[in-house]
Amino acid sequence: MEVDADVLVVGGGPVGLMLACELALAEVRVCVLEQRAARTEQSRALTLHPRSLEILDQRGIVDRFLRRGAPIPVGHFALLEPRLDFSGLDTRHPYTLFLPQAQTEELLEERARELGVEIRRGHVVIEVAESEGGVALWIQGPEGRLRGRARYVVGCDGAASVVRRAIGVGFPGSEATLTAFLGDVEIAEGSDRPASRTGPHGAVLAAPLGEGVYRFVVFDPLRMHATKSEPVTLDELRSSLQRILGTDFGMRRARWLSRFGNATRLAERYRVGRVFLAGDAAHIHFPAGGQGLNVGLQDAMNLGWKLAAAVKGWAPPHLLDSYHDERHPVGRALLRNTEAQTRLIDVSGPGLSLRGVMSELLGIDAVNRYLAGQISALDVVYPPAEGAAAHALCGRRAPDRALEAARGATRLYELLHAGRYVLLDLAGDARIEAAAGALRDRVELVRATVTEPQCELAGVDALLVRPDGHVAWASDAAMRAARADDLTEALARWCGRA
Ligand SMILES: Cc1cc2nc3c(=O)[nH]c(=O)nc-3n(C[C@H](O)[C@H](O)[C@H](O)COP(=O)(O)OP(=O)(O)OC[C@H]3O[C@@H](n4cnc5c(N)ncnc54)[C@H](O)[C@@H]3O)c2cc1C
Repeated sequence: MEVDADVLVVGGGPVGLMLACELALAEVRVCVLEQRAARTEQSRALTLHPRSLEILDQRGIVDRFLRRGAPIPVGHFALLEPRLDFSGLDTRHPYTLFLPQAQTEELLEERARELGVEIRRGHVVIEVAESEGGVALWIQGPEGRLRGRARYVVGCDGAASVVRRAIGVGFPGSEATLTAFLGDVEIAEGSDRPASRTGPHGAVLAAPLGEGVYRFVVFDPLRMHATKSEPVTLDELRSSLQRILGTDFGMRRARWLSRFGNATRLAERYRVGRVFLAGDAAHIHFPAGGQGLNVGLQDAMNLGWKLAAAVKGWAPPHLLDSYHDERHPVGRALLRNTEAQTRLIDVSGPGLSLRGVMSELLGIDAVNRYLAGQISALDVVYPPAEGAAAHALCGRRAPDRALEAARGATRLYELLHAGRYVLLDLAGDARIEAAAGALRDRVELVRATVTEPQCELAGVDALLVRPDGHVAWASDAAMRAARADDLTEALARWCGRA
């Protein structure tokens, strides 16, 4: 028996599911191979950040997540006070959404099934090898061995990625030097808001998971040298909480206890031929600042439409490589900030002094805004294509501004629901329509006016927005004379030939 698809996604965690949704939206035949027989009820991540909410908004599905989660107007850097102020960020989602990973995965799976994605549970991928014109996989299924065949394969199979190993991609970095642990426990008393406390005896992050269950994440200098494989006990959790917080909240029963470390690694390449890596398969780090899942979803958003373009045969030559070029630096920045946070969270040695200095710095608005931009991932800018004369908006996330179009009042992210390029004509210039003419299968031309006067689109008269919501090309009055030629060139560079 054989599993056959245009794209086989290995791993049905949040990143694999998100990627599968993107591919299915573009009508690519996609199948997810997931080793687990059923979805896990345990949640490592608990949060979705502003940029992740924006990309879900760009696909018209953010409301499902907002209905389930609770918005918190802050983020954090190494659990420091003051918190990172997300409320002033320039986005429609200026908050952290508190939503356990299990629910994020449930909602992504629901969406994937609506879009017709085939999800094969109980399927363990054992080997992957590129073969002529495609990729071959060896799979252990519930009823025995299977062969898989696809034009492209994406390893979304987590930290111990089999795909990464099979394609020989190095995963350089550092081994864990310390560990922390978490406990999901039933407690007698508590508040309904996440909170944290840090002092000379360590740090604790506490968050309500509902039904009297609390998540405690414990950074205890006396326990930080336990190895990751050493089981966490309820007594260990109790005694750390007593030492750090002076109470164990009358905890009764543990639902889940787990230890994790600060091993930090980045895949050398995100692409080898027809095989790609995304999410934890590409980057691992200490879970500080709540970023891993978020960055993984954003990897998937960057890759999905590019792979779809390749499957459909119109991807310009650089497009598939641009996934590595754009996302690898984001992975590197993620590792850098989580390593810095790890130093700050470890209160043994100079940790407390470092925390004091950093807390003072976080009180400075510009510093707070800078780090909030990083952790929220709103500050990600992709470098312009080589040789392109770039407008200042190029590579940035397109601003979700209110618009008036022929269809009535709308906003930019609503125009992105179908996952196609959007060419916004804000000048009523017939040459823009003419340039897009033959590419209508992948580019949606929208004539509109911006109805928010004081914004970065003031003065912009045309904008090409990529399916992932980043600006590919923009033009303003100063570029008017060369606009048509410039646009034709940009369309060829980004959208391929008709
Ligand atoms: C304690 C802790 C707290 C965290 N908190 C946060 C947070 O608040 N915010 C945040 O953004 N991130 C957080 N993270 C990180 C986040 O959990 C991960 O980054 C995220 O799960 C990565 O998603 P993924 O889909 O890449 O990988 P995974 O979630 O690991 O999914 C990989 C999937 O692949 C499957 N698989 C593996 N091998 C195979 C195979 N050979 N064949 C078939 N299937 C396979 C696995 O069963 C799994 O379902 C936290 C992590 C930890 C440990």
